[in-house]
Parts: sequence; structure tokens; C-alpha cells
Amino acid sequence: MRKQIVAGNWKMNTTPEQGVVLVKEILKNLGQSCTTVNYIVCPPFTHLSEVAKVTRGTAVQVGAQNCADEAKGAYTGEVSAEMIASIGAQYVILGHSERRQYYGETSAKLVKRMALTYANGLMPIYCVGETLEERENGKLWDVVKAQIEEVVFTLSDEQFRHLVVAYEPVWAIGTGKVATADQAQEMHAFIRKVLISKFGEAAQKTPILYGGSVKADNAAEIFAKEDVDGGLIGGASLKAEDFLAIGNGFN
Ligand code: PEP
Repeated sequence: MRKQIVAGNWKMNTTPEQGVVLVKEILKNLGQSCTTVNYIVCPPFTHLSEVAKVTRGTAVQVGAQNCADEAKGAYTGEVSAEMIASIGAQYVILGHSERRQYYGETSAKLVKRMALTYANGLMPIYCVGETLEERENGKLWDVVKAQIEEVVFTLSDEQFRHLVVAYEPVWAIGTGKVATADQAQEMHAFIRKVLISKFGEAAQKTPILYGGSVKADNAAEIFAKEDVDGGLIGGASLKAEDFLAIGNGFN
């Protein structure tokens, strides 16, 4: 049995005040589903600390949306993994396609971020996924395999045990276009096979989340697939009701 995870990536949305209201609303309506589903919220850096305080001792965990690729020092504007860990967060999203696309995130940088994430006791949610052009050219398998090999294959066996992977086809993020449940399963099974080739049977326990326009009305069909262990949710994580309804997709 693998962990079932629903993680909300708030991106650059909500003020600190709105973020606290949102997480309190999630906590108030959590109900029974949190006994089986692991909920994670990933607010912007400005309110990570406040949200972590509100969630302390609850079933909701907190993650950052990125971390610096250096440990500390003269890196204006950056936030280190140590800082993120110090405020009580547990996760860091790494390699999100928006960061790869807009901020020049390379595998070399992600290897460094990954190492710092683990060195500070945090767990990465590592995102992979192909663009529409890559899918249409049949390059999707090579692209995703390279994203895994170049970064995940640098992990030790012990680090690998704490990894969460998110498959997020770039063409499905924020577009309303969702991969079909079969397309998601096909890629998730492929990712697991690649992970098994390096880490063996330990990869049977790796949670692989699907991300890309997941909503309450499509979550159940996608989550029902064998190798889909939950979702990384953007837009629909900004309303407590919608976010929690996605978690009900496991039932
Ligand atoms: C995301 O950015 O991780 C994401 C999946 O966004 P959305 O759900 O809005 O497509």
C-alpha cells in the first residue's frame, strides 16, 4: 500500500491573511478523509511560516514551492532549504515546469537543490513532464526518463525512500486539458519502471502523483489507476472545498 497524497501548489496566489483563512478552512472541514489521505499545502514563502504554525499538530503538512541551490550566503532573493526546514515545513516542490520554463531550472541546479533538501530533513516532490510538442513528436518517454535519470539517479537508496514524484504534463497545467486516466497510468507505470531499474523494489513504494487540471470531477477516475497515488493540484487547491473534494476521489 502506497501513501495517498493530495498536495496543493498555491503558486503566487493568496496574501498571508488569505492563506491562513484558506488553511483554516481546510482544517475545519478535513473530516475523516485525512486518516487515509495525506494533505500537503504549499503556500508562497511570505506565509509559509504562518501556515506551518496553524497546521502544527494537525494532519495537514506544509511544503515550499522551491528552495535555493546554495546553502547560505550572498544570494539575494533566495530562500534556503535550512530556512524552510526551520519553520516546520516537511516538503519542497522541485523542478516544477513553470520553474524549468520561466526561471531556467536545469538538472544541474535541481541536483543541488535536491541534495540540500535532504540535508535539511525535507522531502522533495519532484516534478517531471513533457510539453505538447514533445508528446506529439513521440519524445515524451525520453524527456521524462532524462528528467529522472539526471536528478533522481543521483540519490542514495536512503534518500530515495523519501521521494515523491509528480508527473505533470506541461500541456495540462492550468489549461483545463487533463490527461486521460489511461495516459496518466501509462506514464506513471513507465516512471515506476525507470525508478525500479535503479532502485529496485523500493520504487514500488514511491508515491507518484498526477498533476494538470485535476478537479473534484475528474480526480476519482485518475486516482483509480494502479500507479497513480494522488495529485499535485494548482488552481483547484485555492478553495478548501474543491481541494478536499479531490481527496474524496480516492474513495
Ligand atoms: C500545478 O501547477 O502543479 C498544477 C497541476 O496546476 P493546475 O492544477 O492548475 O493545472
